[in-house]
Amino acid sequence: MLRQTVLLFGPPGSGKGTQAKRLEQHLRATHVSTGDMFREHLSRHNELGRKIEHIMRSGQLVPDAVTNEMVRERLLCPDVALGTLLDGFPRNIPQARWLETFLAGRGYGIRGVVVMNVPREQLIGRLKSRAIKEGRADDADDGVIRRRLDTYAAQTEACIGFYESVRVAVHPIDGVGSVDEITRRVLTALGTA
Ligand code: ADP
Repeated sequence: MLRQTVLLFGPPGSGKGTQAKRLEQHLRATHVSTGDMFREHLSRHNELGRKIEHIMRSGQLVPDAVTNEMVRERLLCPDVALGTLLDGFPRNIPQARWLETFLAGRGYGIRGVVVMNVPREQLIGRLKSRAIKEGRADDADDGVIRRRLDTYAAQTEACIGFYESVRVAVHPIDGVGSVDEITRRVLTALGTA
């Protein structure tokens, strides 16, 4: 069976992680989140964790070489053989190009791109309450929140245009509503509801 990859895009606080966990079951795809993987390294205080600590806490992107290599190793694992729901990757055009080459080299395709849209003011509110609830240090201060939203607008949104230009289906989703409603919107957009 051809491995299908669904890409999940959305600014910080747009609910990607919440939706990804639910979509994983519906799509029979393995959720791969680069943010979760980096946080795991941080909590283990290993060499990679120490290297990325400052970058993540300041709301910047981890260098592409480090990120791509981590994704490459993950996508070669057998549990992602039937399908992958990629969350948080690619986050800029060089990563998108790298992924195209990686997937094409293995005969795999991108089934679709899901883009979660939430107004900026709501994102800021959600990120602040998440910082309090979960103690996520990278969610904590206003400057860092703004930087992460700006990084998304400046670098990640460009990936959406990139996928349109290579004729991958892009599905914009209204990310305001109940969690169930939003899951339904995504599944309908992907034609699996
Ligand atoms: P967000 O809630 O900001 O979408 P994530 O949990 O996806 O956050 O990622 C948290 C942090 O991990 C990012 O701010 C960034 O520092 C790092 N990160 C995650 N994915 C990537 C990536 N593809 N390239 C570079 N850095 C990344």
